[in-house]
Amino acid sequence: MIRIQILGSAAGGGLPQWNCACANCVAARTGKIEAQTQSSIAISADSEEFQNCWLINASPDLPRQIENTTRLQPRRDASRNTPIAGVLLTNADIDHALGLLLLRQQEKPLVVYAADETRAMLAWLDRTLARFCGIEWRKISSTFQSLDSSLGFRAIELAHSVAFQFLDQASGRLALVAPAVSELTRELSEASAGSDVILFDGTFWSDHELACVRAGARRAREMNHLPVSSGSLNFLRQSPARRKIYTHVNNTNPIFMPGSPERVELEQAGIEVARDGLEIVL
Ligand SMILES: [Zn+2]
Ligand SMILES: [Zn+2]
Repeated sequence: MIRIQILGSAAGGGLPQWNCACANCVAARTGKIEAQTQSSIAISADSEEFQNCWLINASPDLPRQIENTTRLQPRRDASRNTPIAGVLLTNADIDHALGLLLLRQQEKPLVVYAADETRAMLAWLDRTLARFCGIEWRKISSTFQSLDSSLGFRAIELAHSVAFQFLDQASGRLALVAPAVSELTRELSEASAGSDVILFDGTFWSDHELACVRAGARRAREMNHLPVSSGSLNFLRQSPARRKIYTHVNNTNPIFMPGSPERVELEQAGIEVARDGLEIVL
């Protein structure tokens, strides 16, 4: 089995974002919708607890996410310990990598799987952590490699990031985790066709969404995120996966608001919206 836990469902900035007064951020501040932390996912192929779990991206909210998730906390003995075996990075975005700095008290070097390009862009973080635990960088590959005795994974290269496909070695079940997608490539389509569950980039509903809260803001596609409405919705609608879930959702995205026409459209298409703490077992 594969156990996936959404640690944070929001894109960079979280919900609410400190300087944002969009409808969702106001609703989150007044308790009308639940606040969400920044995008990170834990995955494990352990049957019960997370003996050994891996994070996909490490957000600046990671310490809080660990305290919110019993399974990610150290086991109760006197020594320092963690079930977190390492981190897989989809790209070098601040909201995906800053959490690594917050793990600096780790005693062994942090194991981080990333593309060479991501590693190069994070040279600053590598230098900073070298004074603490350091990073043990590992290469990613387009063919399956083992993360541990029960979980395999491979990277699907996209123009500005990678997606990851995970394989439960025992059951053969597959999960696709793609929180940063700029384009629908043939390889990504093929991987999604064979996956039991898909976690997909839900950053923006529309291409011009940010311009509504900030004049002159870049379009979604310029920020390397395929919008839901004109990009990924039809793709996911047609996917045969058992569960299809948007995650890495920006605070401006109307799909965060229950009952909004956009959210209803997703629900009618059989697509879910992630929330902090959501657990998926397959
Ligand atoms: Zn992000
Ligand atoms: Zn907002």
